[in-house]
Amino acid sequence: MRNSAQIDRQGLVGCRRHATFRFYEELNDFLPPDRRKVSFEFAFNGTPSVKDSIEAIGVPHPEVDLVLVDDVSVGFDHLLTGGERVAVYPVFERLDIAPLTRLRPEPLRDPRFVLDVHLGKLARYLRLLGFDTLYERSYADASIAAISVAQRRLILTRDKGLLKRKEVTHGYWLRNTQPRLQIAEVIEVFDLYRSVNVFSRCMVCNHALEIVDEVHVQDALPAGLRGQFEQVSRCPGCDRLYWPGSHYDKLVDLVRNLIPA
Ligand SMILES: [Zn+2]
Repeated sequence: MRNSAQIDRQGLVGCRRHATFRFYEELNDFLPPDRRKVSFEFAFNGTPSVKDSIEAIGVPHPEVDLVLVDDVSVGFDHLLTGGERVAVYPVFERLDIAPLTRLRPEPLRDPRFVLDVHLGKLARYLRLLGFDTLYERSYADASIAAISVAQRRLILTRDKGLLKRKEVTHGYWLRNTQPRLQIAEVIEVFDLYRSVNVFSRCMVCNHALEIVDEVHVQDALPAGLRGQFEQVSRCPGCDRLYWPGSHYDKLVDLVRNLIPA
């Protein structure tokens, strides 16, 4: 305790240092209005890492893909000593920055997700569009982080604290709170338009659906529907059947709104 108090006081009287930070694009969503899209001074004691400084300012590190210190790309462990200009860029899924130091592993080409609790509706929408999406209401933060790392899944969350866990490498903080706006946001941010494969995955349990001849599953269809389709989709996980009609029609409108023709 005494040591830290001394360091703090020393910092305040003599060793308070500054670096000039500028955050780009959607990273500004994490900043108070007076710090958005402008350069500002960040004061610190000692020699904090770039990563700790960025998170102290309020931006979770998985949102960051490139940091330039005095125009040179650096890793998260780069130490600040004062006087630097620091430019912080978001995840570039669409721009080629290969010659620079990417702070995260390769972007997820085949996007798979693990969702934070309370995002059940978004999970169903993602599965509807064919994206491999894990979601359980009972997941603890530690479990979500562990699943993300072990299975290379991107975390979607409304909780910035979850993204600040040090083991997390791929995560995204949803700006929207409405599920329909959230699904549109995810498609847009990760440029998933071409990866959509509607009605290929069970909305309830996430298994990939298989196509079966209707004659094999007729008994499980509502009586009025038997004989209407040659084939239907079946979930090998929970045996649910999916056929054109019912929930299908309602959802087609949603998909049309999300995915421009
Ligand atoms: Zn299922």
